[in-house]
Amino acid sequence: EYQEEEIDDSNFVTRPPVVTIMGHVDHGKTSLLDKIRESKVAAGEAGGITQHISSYTVEKDGQKITFVDTPGHAAFSEMRSRGADITDIIIIVVAADDGVKQQTEEVISHAKASGCPIIVAMNKIDKEAANPDMVKAQMAERDMTPVDWGGETEFIGVSALTGEGIDDLLENILLQSEILELKADPEAKAKAAVVEASLEKGRGPVATVIVQNGTLKVGDNIVCDTTYGRVKAITDDNGKPIKELGLSETGTVLGLNDIPVSGSVMVVQDSDKEARDIATKRAEHARAKELSKSTK
Ligand code: GDP
Repeated sequence: EYQEEEIDDSNFVTRPPVVTIMGHVDHGKTSLLDKIRESKVAAGEAGGITQHISSYTVEKDGQKITFVDTPGHAAFSEMRSRGADITDIIIIVVAADDGVKQQTEEVISHAKASGCPIIVAMNKIDKEAANPDMVKAQMAERDMTPVDWGGETEFIGVSALTGEGIDDLLENILLQSEILELKADPEAKAKAAVVEASLEKGRGPVATVIVQNGTLKVGDNIVCDTTYGRVKAITDDNGKPIKELGLSETGTVLGLNDIPVSGSVMVVQDSDKEARDIATKRAEHARAKELSKSTK
């Protein structure tokens, strides 16, 4: 079922990067995500930013970047084990007045293990007590030496409060992305990673996804872990209904029969029967496994 498919790269095009922001609590991860989104939303569009969302796509100089709020570490390893490793670039946020803390250490080891390029965002540089050199020294001690100190890691001073440095950060992301040469096939059968899913009153199960390959369209037959259905509607990160989701883009999908597990992969099938059969088989398999566990 999880066989590697033969890859036809003749339709490959460059796809936008998917970026994750991680860091110690209170270092400004949420504020930074909100500020980046706010700085890119046209005035008046979607009535401004009213609530924090788990993933969104912005444009910088005509190029797209998708940001994902880190689910907990557990959700992240779950994603990796299910083949839904979505992150291309990791941003480690370190408050410039506070420096490296326990969760920063954890994030560093996670980021190193992922093999993704890492950018260090030194946040809160608007503060009197901000000390970027302290952050650089602490990170250099952990094998993340700044480029301006002869190393390979980019450090960018930012303020989620004033917006200072955010353009620099976005430019740097695009630069890293160019080096990565991220490619995918917009014509392929769509595959999308589930970032978050829940049951919404009056809408049924909704799944927030990021497209990894292909183009996800309204009307597509989908299977997602043990759930299945037909894409009834898609909304973009501003809640606007759209017809399809392209490469690396994020949106919310309606039409599954149940709530899929976060970190699972949504895959388009040729027919509704195929989608249902696969989901049913997986559910039976999962039940059998549970049963054999409980009788042992
Ligand atoms: P998170 O736990 O990493 O998501 O951190 P938050 O985004 O919730 O920020 C924690 C606190 O730091 C909040 O009170 C923010 O208002 C404040 N904060 C975040 N970024 C900045 C910044 O750039 N400058 C200043 N002065 N305060 C900030």
